[in-house]
Amino acid sequence: MPEDIPISLDPWRAVKKGLSFAGEVALSQFPRLAKILIGCENDPHARAVCDLRFERGRDGHALVVGRIRSCLRVPCQRCLGEVEIDVDVLLRLALIRTDQMACELPEDLDPLLVADEQMDLMAVIEDELLLAIPMFPRHGDGLCRPLVTEGVDVNPASPDLAMNETALASGSDTSREETHPFALLAGIRRNRGDSK
Ligand SMILES: [Zn+2]
Repeated sequence: MPEDIPISLDPWRAVKKGLSFAGEVALSQFPRLAKILIGCENDPHARAVCDLRFERGRDGHALVVGRIRSCLRVPCQRCLGEVEIDVDVLLRLALIRTDQMACELPEDLDPLLVADEQMDLMAVIEDELLLAIPMFPRHGDGLCRPLVTEGVDVNPASPDLAMNETALASGSDTSREETHPFALLAGIRRNRGDSK
C-alpha cells in the first residue's frame, strides 16, 4: 500500500525498505514552478499526480522510479496567451552520493545526487515538472491569439526576450539555454547532465 507523498525523506532507507508513495500535490507548493505557471494558486485542479517507488535495480543501483502527471498552464512565448502542457513523466533516477558516480551509470538512468541522508522529494518532483516544459512553450502554428496593434502591447516579446535577442545579435557566446527566459530550467538540465 503506497504511503502519502512526504516532503522529504531518507531515500537510502526508502530503497532498503522498498517504499512506495502515491498522491496528489498542489502545484502552488512548488515555488519555482509556480513563478512560471499561470494562476495555479487559486486553481484546485492545478495538481500533480505522483506515483513513486524506491527500489534496488538489478545492477544494484538505488532507484527512484515512477510517474508524474499534470497539466501545466504557461504563457506562450509568441503571444503570451495561455498554453496547456500535458505532462506525463516516466521517472527513472539513480541515487548517487558523489558527482563522480554519475559517469558510471548506464544511459537509461538519470543521476540524482543525494549527498546525505535526506532528500527533498518535493524539489525532485518540481524539477521533473520543470524539465517537462519545452524550452519555448507556444501555441501551434496559427493558434496564437491576435496581437493588439496599438499601444505598448504591439510587441509580443517580453523585455527578457528583447534583451536576449540583443545578446544574441551582439555575437555574445552565451548559449541558447542561458538566454532562455526560463533560464532556471537550463540549470536543472545541466545539473542532471541531461542533453534533452
Ligand atoms: Zn501563442
